[in-house]
Amino acid sequence: MNFDRSPRADEWLGRLESFLERYLLPYNAAWHAAAASGTPPEFVAELRILAREEGLWNLFLGSLPEGAPGTPMSHLDYAPLAEAMGRLPWAAEVFNCQAPDSGNMELLLRAGTAAQRERWLAPLLAGEIRSAFAMSEPDVASSDPTNLQTEVRREGDALVLNGRKWFITGAAHPDCRLLLVVARDADAGADTHAAHSIVLVPADAPGVQVVRNIPVVHHAAPEGHCEITLRNVRVPADALLGDWGQGFALAQARLGPGRVHHCMRTIGQCELALALACDRALERRAFGKPLAQQANVQEWLADSRIEIDQARLLVLRTAWSLDQPQPPADLREQIAAIKVVAARLQVRVADRAMQVFGAMGLSPDTPLAALWTWGRALRIMDGPDEVHLRTVARGELRRAGDQRGRWTDYFTTPEQMAAPPRIR
Ligand SMILES: Cc1cc2nc3c(=O)[nH]c(=O)nc-3n(C[C@H](O)[C@H](O)[C@H](O)COP(=O)(O)OP(=O)(O)OC[C@H]3O[C@@H](n4cnc5c(N)ncnc54)[C@H](O)[C@@H]3O)c2cc1C
Repeated sequence: MNFDRSPRADEWLGRLESFLERYLLPYNAAWHAAAASGTPPEFVAELRILAREEGLWNLFLGSLPEGAPGTPMSHLDYAPLAEAMGRLPWAAEVFNCQAPDSGNMELLLRAGTAAQRERWLAPLLAGEIRSAFAMSEPDVASSDPTNLQTEVRREGDALVLNGRKWFITGAAHPDCRLLLVVARDADAGADTHAAHSIVLVPADAPGVQVVRNIPVVHHAAPEGHCEITLRNVRVPADALLGDWGQGFALAQARLGPGRVHHCMRTIGQCELALALACDRALERRAFGKPLAQQANVQEWLADSRIEIDQARLLVLRTAWSLDQPQPPADLREQIAAIKVVAARLQVRVADRAMQVFGAMGLSPDTPLAALWTWGRALRIMDGPDEVHLRTVARGELRRAGDQRGRWTDYFTTPEQMAAPPRIR
């Protein structure tokens, strides 16, 4: 494994960072003011046009369909770019690399028919529309997707959906035109793992209602984490994505690269929190010396540096694994592991930085409170820590089962041991 940045990644990182400095940082305060007022800022659309012209567009895909705008990158090459975008909560959107659209585009590319790609993927890649992924439901524990109750029924040439979804990111965006709805086939048999499918539902279809934008802690995102009802929503039969019963397999495939992107953005956010903490520790004096000279503050900064670097290596390994023509057998566990590591990291690093800032760290005068809140949300969204730990533990136990007794036998008491073999 080689995690050195390739010349291509270096080149595009340089371009991206220069763009961030030239165009995004000067607008950062204005973006936060607009987001706080709940109005999506107009200048984002202009910056998106500029980014697209510079090729800083759709950087998260390994291959782009013929004629689609953007610059394809491997997962490993994209990782430092996602990290750089992570420092500002609105940067990914400027480069059309924002969740959940990036994952939805991957899925449409992988499983969409030619007609579905033309209708939905092409305008998403062009940045003309936005989309949302509607899986979680208020009425059931959604970390176990076999529970999901939203129903899809076949009626002649149509599919009819009924149900309730919530925390659906992106559904309040004014350009959101498409919902990828995970629904249970009304005629499915007993196999709960093959009962769900994904249906492409136009956001303005009769019967779709965005009920509310749910704030996460105190923060209501302008693009929304929405509750949605679907009442007798009727779409043509060709709105099914992939095959019947393929919903979980498709959702799993969608989440893999998406989690690597999330984790790299998280690492960018942690780097920002650490940089702010260092600045503050050097400048602020208490009891006759800068905070930076207090041993405990040094320990917080050192712990944060070590943990960020550890997490980055783990995420890069997963990005590298995703790029392999034959990904390793434990790829799913690698993805689960980085999801846990990154979310916990963000909570810890932001928390330490807030402590260095004192009361100001809790105020909106720094991004730290928002970073901490987002880290806390990351421990639940995209599956809670416990479910990912379960995936990692199951892989570990499966391997241990295959090699059962291999080590234990060497640690038995001398009386239980057979006579050791002769060395010569
Ligand atoms: C900011 C944000 C954005 C989101 N965006 C989306 C989106 O765009 N689309 C979408 O569909 N969903 C989205 N979600 C929902 C998210 O994916 C779910 O909240 C998550 O999967 C957990 O489901 P749940 O809330 O129903 O928790 P539950 O399933 O009710 O679980 C509750 C708790 O039970 C425990 N638990 C569950 N299973 C196990 C287990 N096997 N072992 C041990 N403990 C366990 C965990 O501690 C867990 O936190 C978002 C959530 C947030 C916070």
